[in-house]
Amino acid sequence: MRVLALEQGPKVGGAATTDELFPGYHFSTCAHSFVLFHPQILDDLHLVERGLRVFRRDPPQFHPFADDQYLLLWGDAERTREAIARFSRRDADAYPRYIAFWRRAAQLFDPYLLKAPPTLGELLRAAEGTPNAAIAHTLITGTRRQLLDEYFESPRVKASLGTTFDAGYTDNAGSLLYFAFAAALSARLGDRGLAGFPRGGMGAVTQLLRQAAESAGAEVRVRTPVAGIQVADGRARGVALADGTVISARAVLSSADPQFTFTRLVAAEHLPAAFRQSVRRLRMNAGYLKLHCATTGLPDWRALPGGGPQHGANVRICESLDDIDRAWSQARAGRMPESPVLGLVCPSVYDNSVAPAGHHTISIWAEYAPVGLAPADWESQRDATTDALIAQVARYAPNFPDIVSAAYLHGPPEIEARAGMTRGNMHHVDMTIDQMLAARPLPGCAAYRTPVDGLYLCGSGCHPGGGVSGVPGHNAAQTVIRDLDIPEPRPLRASRDRARPAPPGVGPARSL
Ligand SMILES: Cc1cc2nc3c(=O)[nH]c(=O)nc-3n(C[C@H](O)[C@H](O)[C@H](O)COP(=O)(O)OP(=O)(O)OC[C@H]3O[C@@H](n4cnc5c(N)ncnc54)[C@H](O)[C@@H]3O)c2cc1C
Repeated sequence: MRVLALEQGPKVGGAATTDELFPGYHFSTCAHSFVLFHPQILDDLHLVERGLRVFRRDPPQFHPFADDQYLLLWGDAERTREAIARFSRRDADAYPRYIAFWRRAAQLFDPYLLKAPPTLGELLRAAEGTPNAAIAHTLITGTRRQLLDEYFESPRVKASLGTTFDAGYTDNAGSLLYFAFAAALSARLGDRGLAGFPRGGMGAVTQLLRQAAESAGAEVRVRTPVAGIQVADGRARGVALADGTVISARAVLSSADPQFTFTRLVAAEHLPAAFRQSVRRLRMNAGYLKLHCATTGLPDWRALPGGGPQHGANVRICESLDDIDRAWSQARAGRMPESPVLGLVCPSVYDNSVAPAGHHTISIWAEYAPVGLAPADWESQRDATTDALIAQVARYAPNFPDIVSAAYLHGPPEIEARAGMTRGNMHHVDMTIDQMLAARPLPGCAAYRTPVDGLYLCGSGCHPGGGVSGVPGHNAAQTVIRDLDIPEPRPLRASRDRARPAPPGVGPARSL
């Protein structure tokens, strides 16, 4: 096949780019944590041979509390168990069982990663009669709080383990399901020792993906916005660019989010009215923000002062599970939470390519942010939000305000503007149980196909969902190959691959 990738921005990557936000300081502006990428795709595209290097974080998590106690979660379960024992001996004993729960949950979902998603019923039936049946039931009907209450007694331990459900919004039944997929993906990458911070930030990954695509003969064009998808007789025929150029194709794949794709790129007349209504009603309520700080040093944590492994960890700030619920309710009510749940990362501790010597890049991930505010309303909150986040960290690391030399707040409107994600939704649509598996993004529009023949979705709005995993793109491509009856592709070779010449008589990039 001849493949053409069209990107509206100045570089490929969307929510997975590295940007020099201040001179000399390079940030993973949206995604930073390389934990979900499927190793098979990594191998297929020879990303390691092409130069991907990942710094492993150990301990993965440092959790200081307001009373100066702290909990370190280590890569080694036994070491974590000992750390938990300082809070509760009973919880330390429960920890191996809790880890086993997630290991089994990961096994349950692992078979469904690189293929079309099952329905909930199929998933349950597959687990029936196996030791995993109870786990499947808990994932579908349970909540984060119920699960943690079942295993642990210490509110600190629950808060710390509760925040490892990154981007885990709402405590509704079924919200554990997403984490089973995340657990399945991160177990695979972790087993390969390749989970952590990519050298050069997350943009290094997407630049290598571009390189792999071009080596295999694909063409990539940046600064090329697509204005619309051309449809005739119920079939996608190509795209129209913003400059009026029309490019014909046998198949069109959109990694723009589903709502954008079906409301802005496909004309309404090509979609059934009921489908259009469902698209408008897609659940897209989860909002996050990141505060990127250039710093002249490292935070001095009151709970664990001085140097040490805490600086390379994801530092969590959250006193209790109630804080998570409160932050969610306040953000849903349209305002910035008083005490959002924070996660600080400092990739420059590992990676000397991202900050000047002796200086650091610290990104603060805050859950949750209000979405859908009018730009002026968001703008009016920016400075106060920046100051409040820095002050919140200062309660745990008093030197923090003094070391921040520059700060940039990246909230839902900025995420939407930079990565094109509607409402700044990092997963394109929320990862709620009604929008997962064979219902992602919508029933009748799952498994990468859409109501328009020849038009496919290939981004986070598809199974298995958000995250830098490569999986939706892989699965969408396989679906196209099957639908168009294309022979098995030849395997890619590493960097020596050369672009395939265009077949005679076909101009460059006229057909996809
Ligand atoms: C703040 C934030 C933090 C995150 N943290 C992590 C993390 O630590 N780890 C992790 O694994 N995941 C993380 N994620 C999630 C992850 O980044 C996304 O799920 C993933 O990058 C989405 O990739 P995608 O290809 O599905 O879509 P996108 O990244 O949305 O890519 C879509 C691309 O299409 C382009 N596009 C859209 N419309 C058009 C058009 N009309 N014409 C041409 N081009 C167009 C966009 O510019 C964009 O480049 C985070 C996301 C955010 C927002």
